[in-house]
Amino acid sequence: MQDACVFGYTTADMSKERILIVGGGFGGVKAALELANNNHFTVTLLSDQPNLRYYPTLYHTATGGRRANSTIPLDELFKGKDITIAQGKAAMLDRKAKTITTDDGRAFLFDTLIISLGVVTNYFGIEGLDTYSYGIKSAEEAGRLKAHLHQQLIDDHKPDLNYVIIGAGPTGIELAGALPGYLQHIMKRHGVEPRKVHIDLIEALPRLLPRLPSDTSRMVKRRLKRLGVKLYLGQAVQSQSADELTINGKPVRSHTVIWTAGVTNHPFFKNNDFTLTKRGKVSVDAYLQAEDNIFVLGDNANTPYSGMAQTAIVDGDFHIIPLMKLEDPAQRATILPAMKEVDELVLKYKGSLSGEHNDGLVRGPWLEQMYGKEVLELFRQAKHIMDPDGIFNPHKKADADWDYSFGHIRDHF
Ligand SMILES: Cc1cc2nc3c(=O)[nH]c(=O)nc-3n(C[C@H](O)[C@H](O)[C@H](O)COP(=O)(O)OP(=O)(O)OC[C@H]3O[C@@H](n4cnc5c(N)ncnc54)[C@H](O)[C@@H]3O)c2cc1C
Repeated sequence: MQDACVFGYTTADMSKERILIVGGGFGGVKAALELANNNHFTVTLLSDQPNLRYYPTLYHTATGGRRANSTIPLDELFKGKDITIAQGKAAMLDRKAKTITTDDGRAFLFDTLIISLGVVTNYFGIEGLDTYSYGIKSAEEAGRLKAHLHQQLIDDHKPDLNYVIIGAGPTGIELAGALPGYLQHIMKRHGVEPRKVHIDLIEALPRLLPRLPSDTSRMVKRRLKRLGVKLYLGQAVQSQSADELTINGKPVRSHTVIWTAGVTNHPFFKNNDFTLTKRGKVSVDAYLQAEDNIFVLGDNANTPYSGMAQTAIVDGDFHIIPLMKLEDPAQRATILPAMKEVDELVLKYKGSLSGEHNDGLVRGPWLEQMYGKEVLELFRQAKHIMDPDGIFNPHKKADADWDYSFGHIRDHF
């Protein structure tokens, strides 16, 4: 190794297989938890954040919920485990030297590399959105939106003319469901004269929740209308400026535009010459190997259910772990074909929506569609889904859902 400082390994550790996991999200954390405390490995988890982000509750963090409800410190998740946690932004892969270098120039050596970097926001090149819109893809973004809402209502005593949410996927509709109540709550609490607020939900496709069955879309549509949310389906956003949004050629005045409509694969892979599919995902074999000794998991990998948390967790568990626990890389090569049944397991885990849907907007219909009445009934019985002491037993259906509540997430890992 030349010209690279080595982080995370002592001299004694150099005799062990060095596993570097990049990305402290669902896939990376699951793989790290499974591989830590194994005498044959030295495991380092490199992530740009000190926390695991629990995405489904971010809309709640933006609308009054605590920030702590959407993040879990990695130190807490790995307490007592034999693993090095490093914070840094992976930028460059050197295949020959077997290093990952961070944007501040630190190099991390590996024998085996596992990458699970998640996706990034995609504005599809629409002018102004990156500058003027709000997002809810991280606790920081959710916090920024919340601060903006408070500033308008509490400091300026003035609600926006229109609150515009773009994207009627799960995140957009959850936010649209929570926002009217939250705005009224802030006004009441801070003595702002109550006013009617306009919340617009815009979707380029002809129906909301386009990836879910159409009767689910209809139910959610009715519910949102009852909440006073105006739906604009089949409408394309063209640009945004500081004061307005242009939709299908028409201007809409707003200082609060929230973009939930698009994500794309992490640029790390393109920048480092991985083989990508047409939709920009990394080509992997059935065992999630992109190249020799380089595994790619979760949202980054081109697998049938990539894009769901459950898939990332399953990737970090069933796909990788049996292989890694063989310890001898040569032995791994011979065992790969015997792991076919793992694929079937993954296909079973389609994932589900999660988070605290206290108005029952999404979770009910979606879960019923996915898992039938029995699982739905379990949710109905759970009086306080966020209460870790609630009646729900996460182990009972651990294989049917990725998480039932924030309070139970640790049990899933
Ligand atoms: C708002 C929202 C709601 C969602 N709701 C659901 C749901 O209800 N059900 C469901 O199944 N799925 C849901 N998802 C999708 C789910 O969260 C993802 O599929 C899952 O997180 C993918 O796991 P991952 O490990 O691939 O990526 P992530 O969990 O995103 O983890 C990627 C990690 O890599 C880190 N990272 C990024 N860049 C770098 C870098 N350069 N160097 C080092 N570290 C880096 C990130 O900080 C992050 O910790 C939701 C997603 C969002 C955004």
